[in-house]
Amino acid sequence: MEICNHCGHSVALGSGRFVNRIPDLNDMETRIANTLQYPSGDYVCEICDNMDSDAEYGEVG
Ligand SMILES: [Zn+2]
Repeated sequence: MEICNHCGHSVALGSGRFVNRIPDLNDMETRIANTLQYPSGDYVCEICDNMDSDAEYGEVG
């Protein structure tokens, strides 16, 4: 599905999240094991991807 597997928001064309979506290469079993809220989602949106990488805090540049 073209949704973010963290927040469940649509990342389909026209959703506003299409451009910066990141494909999630894990299969659904892995996503469930990772306790994702929406394991049927094949993508992570930019916002959730940024929340995941909080080791690099702040803006790039
Ligand atoms: Zn998200």
